[in-house]
Amino acid sequence: MKNLQFGSQCVRAARDTKTTRPHQLPIYATSSFAFDDLPEGMAVFSGEQAGHLYSRFGNPTIDAVAEKIAQLEMHGSGEEGHGLFCSSGMSAISTLCIGLLQPGDAILTQPNLYGGTDELFRKVLQPLGFEVILADLSDLNTVAKALEQHAAIRMVYFETPANPTLSCVDIKAVSALAHSHQAIAVADNTFATPYLQQPLLLGADYIVHSTTKYLNGHGNSTAGAIVGKDKETMQEQVFPALKLLGTNGSPFEAWLLNNGMKTLELRMERHCQNAAQIAEWLTQQPQVSRVNYPGLPDHPDHQLAGQQMRHFGGVVSFELKGGLHAGRQFVEGLELCTLAPTMGDVDTLVMHPATMSHLRVPVEQREAAGISDGMIRLSVGIENIEDIRSDLEKGMASIEKRG
Ligand SMILES: *Cc1c(COP(=O)(O)O)cnc(C)c1O
Repeated sequence: MKNLQFGSQCVRAARDTKTTRPHQLPIYATSSFAFDDLPEGMAVFSGEQAGHLYSRFGNPTIDAVAEKIAQLEMHGSGEEGHGLFCSSGMSAISTLCIGLLQPGDAILTQPNLYGGTDELFRKVLQPLGFEVILADLSDLNTVAKALEQHAAIRMVYFETPANPTLSCVDIKAVSALAHSHQAIAVADNTFATPYLQQPLLLGADYIVHSTTKYLNGHGNSTAGAIVGKDKETMQEQVFPALKLLGTNGSPFEAWLLNNGMKTLELRMERHCQNAAQIAEWLTQQPQVSRVNYPGLPDHPDHQLAGQQMRHFGGVVSFELKGGLHAGRQFVEGLELCTLAPTMGDVDTLVMHPATMSHLRVPVEQREAAGISDGMIRLSVGIENIEDIRSDLEKGMASIEKRG
């Protein structure tokens, strides 16, 4: 299985060959595992003998899927990654931070994080004594200065491309800066997936995923994953945090995720192809004042994204000249695209950050992060491009009619 191409690995990996020979990965719906006798139980408990004990610690379905994600993140390098499967993207992030950091340690991160991560840092980790320092991570001088000024920084945490402006972070350069100050580099790879971008191969130490999005791709399970390059810290620090906080995912969610991942390469190719065409089309619409897509030559991170990503991703955001009012009219005029606060599913999803994901963010802060009242985020699906475009045309036309 080791020498397969990326897309083949997506399809073929994560089969259970240890017990019987099922053609597909089964769901092990069992909370614990039985032993033949006391010596066997003792050997497995002490770690002398490989085996499963209790599903919160691991389970054949869960382990197969965690290993598959680790293989995909390290694909092509010949090196091994170490994966853990979690109950959500948020549980992956909190487990990693609690497992690796001590109160008093600081996290350096960006102001334009996924909303839940931003709240986790401010509302949960900060009150527990973890310091959180915000800086523009796309500016390497700012990153270097922050690392020099705050000796307590132990982790640099970033998202690239970031939501919803699609700004990018130079993974290689920021990881190197982190390492020169004895800090670890962590990338949230949810938007890109390992098919488009492999942060661990560019120098990051850990990646986290909300597998709820593109890795699953079908919008039918909530789960997350952590992959680390260092086996010892994964086993001695991150795994105990998962096991003892109980942030493990379930075998059923792992099984759904495995089915979704089989078509990762096919889906990502189509998502990216469609998104590139939609971004180009949006630039020509008179109602649109700005389009954010790293694939467009005028996006500030076009060159960087081209270096560290295979294609430019499936998410596009844009601003309507008519602001909030036009945003509402546009969304109301759509018939095919689904209005939903998620992304990465096979169907095209629309989100209006000002009234949905960023409703509770103060207006000044939201606008400073580049999220205007008229911004629309599109998670471009894998439908036929003609159908997506004609639906977006309906949305645009409804602005004109009522506007
Ligand atoms: C959705 C998301 C998360 C949180 O994941 P859940 O599975 O909803 O817990 C974290 N990071 C990014 C970039 C996301 O899009």
